[in-house]
Amino acid sequence: MREITLDNQNIPIVYKPSLRVKRISLRLSPKEFAFILTHPPRATHRQLQRFLDQCGPWIKRQLEKVTDAPSLHPGAILSLYGEDFECIHDPLRRKPVLCQETKTLRLPLKVSQKDLHSLFKKVAHEKLLPLLYKAVEDLDQRVEKVSFRDSKTRWGSCSGRKTISLNWRLVFLPPEVGHYVCAHEAAHLLHMNHSKAFWEVLERICPTYQKHRKWLKAHGSAWMRF
Ligand SMILES: [Zn+2]
Repeated sequence: MREITLDNQNIPIVYKPSLRVKRISLRLSPKEFAFILTHPPRATHRQLQRFLDQCGPWIKRQLEKVTDAPSLHPGAILSLYGEDFECIHDPLRRKPVLCQETKTLRLPLKVSQKDLHSLFKKVAHEKLLPLLYKAVEDLDQRVEKVSFRDSKTRWGSCSGRKTISLNWRLVFLPPEVGHYVCAHEAAHLLHMNHSKAFWEVLERICPTYQKHRKWLKAHGSAWMRF
């Protein structure tokens, strides 16, 4: 791994020579916390450097997206459905817990992803379910079943059998965006497509939907990685 410096920040770059590619390309690997530079084996150091120089603005944009995603280091502030919680270590605990009085997320020294996910799922249940039911009611519809899913690609979905699933990661987003997703899926109970009629129904129960849709497009993917 090598590094380049951008705005006084060291950016890790992994060079991956590959016989299968003809062009130099760069992608962000959130898993490796590095940018992967794939290039033909014969590319010169100067060519690679020039390519990286051109990528500066793109790299910056990618970094902004990643740093949006929550971090759970002690002292970090996690915003859950518009409420801020400070992350602290609590060695006496075996499972993570949210303390409403002290506004802290208390974490055991070793915290499993599974425990964290189920904690956030519980919050999603509490905060989003009432919004979804309200939207369904406003449209004079009914929903057969609601589930909270662990999806890395979708914020919500609605089936022809009138079942709706929501992504529990919605708890990390601003509450109005969570509300938009609930309203969006509820509107699908009436229209199983994204037709003009669908957007009209949605606008009735969420007049500011366009703003939230844009927000999701710009920032949503960072939170999917959590
Ligand atoms: Zn949709």
